[in-house]
Amino acid sequence: MINLIFSSLTALIFIPNFWILKAAEPNASEDIKLQVRVHRFQSNEEPRLNCSLSDDEIRQQFVTVNQTWAQAGIVWEIESIVDVVAKDPEAFTKAMNTPNGKLGPPLKSNMPRNHLLKDGFNVAIAEDYGKRMGGVFAAAEDGLVFYAKKGPKGVQTPAVLAHEFGHALGLPHTIFEKDNNLMMGSGAGRIPTLVKPITTSQIEIARDRQAFLTGEDTTAGKIS
Ligand SMILES: [Zn+2]
Repeated sequence: MINLIFSSLTALIFIPNFWILKAAEPNASEDIKLQVRVHRFQSNEEPRLNCSLSDDEIRQQFVTVNQTWAQAGIVWEIESIVDVVAKDPEAFTKAMNTPNGKLGPPLKSNMPRNHLLKDGFNVAIAEDYGKRMGGVFAAAEDGLVFYAKKGPKGVQTPAVLAHEFGHALGLPHTIFEKDNNLMMGSGAGRIPTLVKPITTSQIEIARDRQAFLTGEDTTAGKIS
C-alpha cells in the first residue's frame, strides 16, 4: 500500500516535469520555406532599370542569401523568375537625375502588379541604383523588395538582398548589435562578408514574421 502511494506520488511529480521539458524544447528545428517570385526589370529606355543578371546568377545569389538565413532555419525559395517591362522608366530617370531623388516611388510606379505572387514574396531587380541605395523594402506596396545588380559600391553582394529580406520579415536596423550583423545600417564594424550573423532575437522575430516596416531604406546599399 505504501509502495502504491509512493508510486502515485512519483508519477504526479514526474508527469508535470515531463510537460515542462516538452514546452522548453526549441521549436526552431523545422525549416520555414518562403516562396519568392523574382521580377527582372527590362527597359529599352533606361539602361539602369534593364537588369542584366541571368537566371543562373540570380539563383547563385539566392544560394548565398540562404547561407545567411540558414542560421534562422529560413529558406528563400525561388518560385519563378519572370521578366517585367518597366512601366514608367521616365520617372526613374528623373529621380536618378535629381539630387537626393527618392527611388522608392518611381520603382513602385514601374512595377506591373498583374504578375505578383500571392501568398509569397516578390523581389524586383533593376540594373543600377547608382549611389542612391542598395535596395528597399516597400511594405505598403504588397511587401515588394526592390534590389539591383549594382548599387553605391558597384556590383552588390547578396548580403544586401539578405538584408532587405530581413526588413520583409519585420527586422529593423540593429542599434546595439554591431558585430557585422545582417541588419546593420551604416557605421563602423561592417566587414564585407557574403554571409552575415543574425542574433537569437532576430531569428525569433523573423520566424514569427508578423511585423512589417515601411519606408525607403537608404542605408542597405552601404553594406557590402
Ligand atoms: Zn536596411
